Amino acid sequence: MKLEPVIGLEIHVQLKTKSKMFCGCDNAGENQPANTTICPICTGQPGTLPVINETAYRWGLKTAIALNCLIPEKTKFDRKNYFYPDLPKGYQISQYDLPIGQNGFYTIVAGDKKIKVGIVRVHLEEDSAKLYHSPAGDYSLVDFNRSGTPLLEIVTEPDFRSPAEAKAFLQELRLLMMYLKISDAEMEKGHLRCDANISLRPAGDVKLYTKTEIKNLNSFRSVERALAYEVKRQTKLWDENKVSNFQSTRGWNEQKGVTVEQRSKEGESDYRYFPEPDLPPFVITKKEITKLKAAIPELPNNRRERFKQDYDLSQKEIDFLITNEDYSDYLEGVISELEAWFVAERPKERGREFITQKKKIIHLAASWLINRLTKLIYDEKLSLKQVKITQENFAEFIKLIFQSKVNSLNAQEVLKIMFKTGGDPSDIVERKNLGQIGTSEELERIIEKVIKDNPLPVQQYRSGKTQTLQFLIGQVMKQTKGRADPNIVNGLIVSKLR
Ligand SMILES: [Zn+2]
Repeated sequence: MKLEPVIGLEIHVQLKTKSKMFCGCDNAGENQPANTTICPICTGQPGTLPVINETAYRWGLKTAIALNCLIPEKTKFDRKNYFYPDLPKGYQISQYDLPIGQNGFYTIVAGDKKIKVGIVRVHLEEDSAKLYHSPAGDYSLVDFNRSGTPLLEIVTEPDFRSPAEAKAFLQELRLLMMYLKISDAEMEKGHLRCDANISLRPAGDVKLYTKTEIKNLNSFRSVERALAYEVKRQTKLWDENKVSNFQSTRGWNEQKGVTVEQRSKEGESDYRYFPEPDLPPFVITKKEITKLKAAIPELPNNRRERFKQDYDLSQKEIDFLITNEDYSDYLEGVISELEAWFVAERPKERGREFITQKKKIIHLAASWLINRLTKLIYDEKLSLKQVKITQENFAEFIKLIFQSKVNSLNAQEVLKIMFKTGGDPSDIVERKNLGQIGTSEELERIIEKVIKDNPLPVQQYRSGKTQTLQFLIGQVMKQTKGRADPNIVNGLIVSKLR
């Protein structure tokens, strides 16, 4: 029997607000000494009252809107009760039956497959403190710096059919958080945490079977590996007819590469949810939603689609640009300069040739940005923000290459000077005499001289030893100090020798 995996994700995103979810404490406590960014509220002292962080609330709404969720007219917070040493109040303030967003979706591309991933819910809550267990296991310490950090929980429908699809979604969600500028979303630092649930079923079946939940997935790689391990383990259970109806929780052991059975999962009833009496329910107005909608930038999945449609770039180039938002923003600026110039140059021209040429120049810009400028930036350990080349000058530089006013070898030289000085490319070309010699008289004169000075190779070429042509081209390139286009030189020499 052929089996298919049914996978869903539950993701926690740490919001990078200045202060915590319900108090004014510094939210950047992860880099501070233990227990220094705390107050009576986030350490759960009796008699204190929580106050909602407005920014966290708006960012939560913004995410729910970006994930195409239905936004309720009214939302509220609830207490989720459980006893654990990292939870000072004995309950976590979370959202239960009226989350900030429900029934959404987000479309991603995994491999060649486009998947519309259902979003069950998006809700706000607070994080717990952090426990440190002594190596000998004889004592534990609590750091409350993280206690009360705003978290956004996002739960997907079980819409993934392979571990790779789940990983692709998580990576896409990370990009979304970065584009919305609400979280650094670094998995390794715990800003983005993921639990995955998985069951198998006979391919084609629509029923959902009892799922297993996997905890402690703290890298994209471990999400994929742990799920792949579970597929293997559960396939064996199906083969042996030992599939259990009992929902279980397993932890991922990165070193051993296996999942290990943990406690059985609490049901919702074990948490005894009830409305948070210190925070009254609040109303979300249509006006507020409209305002937030307008503030959402172009999302990574849409931008990827548009780049593919409009710019004719390779998958690798698109992936680089989408994961490096600053580079795609920079490129867009360059492109709009180039497009304006291109239209001005060809006011009456339209149609297929116009589009082909336009795509060609955009591709040229993307490729010089990704392959050449990036290398200079990385070599100097800089960021794109620190680069002196304006988008206008970069566009000018691309124009020079496009119009064959500078060949690609000398263009690299020009780019290096621009990178160092921030200078104007046309200026640099003129000053350093790096401009390309086209089919000018100067070039013809040099070619005639090379033919005259090298009678032997010329004779050999004429008697059929055509390899000597490369030698003659090399001589011309040398005489022009690399300013000629080798293809043009080739054509001219051949016609002269005939
Ligand atoms: Zn506090």
